[in-house]
Amino acid sequence: MTYDVCERTVRELAKTYPEMKTQMLTETAFGRKVLALELGRGRRRALYTAAHHANEWITAPVLLKFAEELAGAAAFNETTWGVPGRDILEKARICLVPMVDPDGVDLVTGGIREGTQPYVLAEKIARDFPDVPFSAGWKANLMGVDLNLQYPAGWLKAREIKFSQGYTRPAPRDYVGRAPLGQPESRALARYTEETDPALVLALHTQGREIYWQFRDIPVPGARELGEEFARVSGYVLAEVPAASGFAGYKDWFIQTFRRPGYTIECGFGKNPLPVSQFSEIYRDLLGILVTGALGLAE
Ligand SMILES: [Zn+2]
Repeated sequence: MTYDVCERTVRELAKTYPEMKTQMLTETAFGRKVLALELGRGRRRALYTAAHHANEWITAPVLLKFAEELAGAAAFNETTWGVPGRDILEKARICLVPMVDPDGVDLVTGGIREGTQPYVLAEKIARDFPDVPFSAGWKANLMGVDLNLQYPAGWLKAREIKFSQGYTRPAPRDYVGRAPLGQPESRALARYTEETDPALVLALHTQGREIYWQFRDIPVPGARELGEEFARVSGYVLAEVPAASGFAGYKDWFIQTFRRPGYTIECGFGKNPLPVSQFSEIYRDLLGILVTGALGLAE
């Protein structure tokens, strides 16, 4: 999965299913597009994101395959996860951002060749952090900013924690950047989320087979119940966020700003980047979450 494959898939899907809308949210520092796909015309809006982190790229094809399966089911009068595709798209509008960090994904998946300028720049950043394997341990964008530490929800706290761990400058992971929403990718996603005004968001990460659903002790009506249902249909564990990574993430910001359910789903199990051989299992486990998230619990 490279940026190129993602972009081509989005374009092909939009061509095959004309009701599917695509949108460019922004361009990265290295000229790649952050793309969004929208399906359905329902009242309930759900926003799913993937590949906020470069070496968690396996989450991107999860959303692309979901879009394809759901649009296909609606077109051919079939079901997705046992629910008629047409019903899902009548009840919900599903917005997908399959690759939040296309620059970083290309570094990890070989979309950026050794010796090219962006590769050399990344190598230079990585040299200061010899404990992080290059490029397999790369999570950031190519400016060396961790995009899931970019949101104004305890950002200063995240900065304090990550600085104390030595991530005080551009790094392969865990550098919060100079300011919240300072990177085009995170800024564009925040804006798109505000425009979409969704009933819930999901952020797909790897790994651990866990679901995080809280930010600080902000009460969110229905969040625990929906999280428990997600756990039931996936076999994943509804869990507490580890203290050191509990701030400045996308779902943290969503919960704080919207007071609606937002979840980080840690897909799969193993060492990042997870092998592509885990894809089918991850997709199978996630499908119930993706459909349930779109429909909500009440209906
Ligand atoms: Zn992640």
